[in-house]
Amino acid sequence: MENLEALRDQLDGVNSRLLGLLNERAAIVREIGKIKEEMGVPKFDPVREREMLDELVRQNQGPFEDAAIKHVFKEIFKASVGLQEKDHKKHLLVSRKSQEENTVVTVKDVAIGGPTQVMIAGPCSVESYEQVRTVAAALKAAGVPIMRGGAFKPRTSPYDFQGLGEEGLRLLKEVADEFGLVTISEIVNPAHMEMAAKYIDIVQIGARNMQNFELLKAAGEARVPVVLKRGLSATMEEFIFAAEYIYSSGNDRIILIERGIRTYEKWTRNTLDISAVPIMKQETHLPVLVDVSHSTGRKDILVPCAKAALAAGADGIMVEVHPDPQTALSDADQQLTIEQFNTFYSQVLASGLMKTAAATTR
Ligand code: PEP
Ligand code: MN
Repeated sequence: MENLEALRDQLDGVNSRLLGLLNERAAIVREIGKIKEEMGVPKFDPVREREMLDELVRQNQGPFEDAAIKHVFKEIFKASVGLQEKDHKKHLLVSRKSQEENTVVTVKDVAIGGPTQVMIAGPCSVESYEQVRTVAAALKAAGVPIMRGGAFKPRTSPYDFQGLGEEGLRLLKEVADEFGLVTISEIVNPAHMEMAAKYIDIVQIGARNMQNFELLKAAGEARVPVVLKRGLSATMEEFIFAAEYIYSSGNDRIILIERGIRTYEKWTRNTLDISAVPIMKQETHLPVLVDVSHSTGRKDILVPCAKAALAAGADGIMVEVHPDPQTALSDADQQLTIEQFNTFYSQVLASGLMKTAAATTR
């Protein structure tokens, strides 16, 4: 019995010495990690590991078998590489770890991502001067600061209306200038970034192009404010990496927008992933919006979806509005009439979840 106690004491002593040795080893590993980082060589070196294992096996006199020694040391090596990688982990530029405070994207006098929330509304596609002007007048009257409208439409079928192109952007500008609205429109071609900046205030990169890396880089280089939509089946991590492409190409004016993801559900066009809102707000410092039209594809649940988005921390809502949705050249089923929009907006405002800049400065 006394012998057992004595042996246990001895074992405790060995454990302490092993712990000390392991941490002594870890300190050396860290120094090596620093040098490797400076040299730009990988932390994991399989050849060196094999040599160390061979040498340990050569020295091993038991009672542990060689396989057991190899197993234990492989774990030590793995933990060591983990320590080196943790020391030199690079945080994404868009991540909260790189910037603690919220990015506020200010376009003309409209701030996105600050203490107030924005409503963005407008037709799916720019179809005519009259159509855009009718919507713009209604938005102005309702106090909506930002108008959307697609001129380059990435349609699923090549036989569907593809948009008016540059002429559509020109119409947007003409009307927005008249009413003093900020404009958003989608660009699908990297070569169009410079041209777009002449007409519109915010470039949208659509869901179908979220991983069009050349387009993301062009949007980064153009340094125009960008609204980046989550891809149809993109994970949140992929969404963040897409934003990082823009940021790392020189543009920090990025706004994320959740627009629903594809699931097996058929009663909505996509599935609105509300959880993406708080997660994107936590993981990144960028403003996060929710597009209630493309995420649901229907008109009857927009108010509760917008409220849910705002309650989850969204910085704004995007919704499609058309003077005569039945005749719309795209997304006819999901666009609100102007009257329906006014009701929608007043109900969202009445919820108290949306503090608009106009209301706070009053
Ligand atoms: C749009 O906003 O016009 C659009 C095409 O949306 P998404 O890219 O989200 O499908
Ligand atoms: Mn649409």
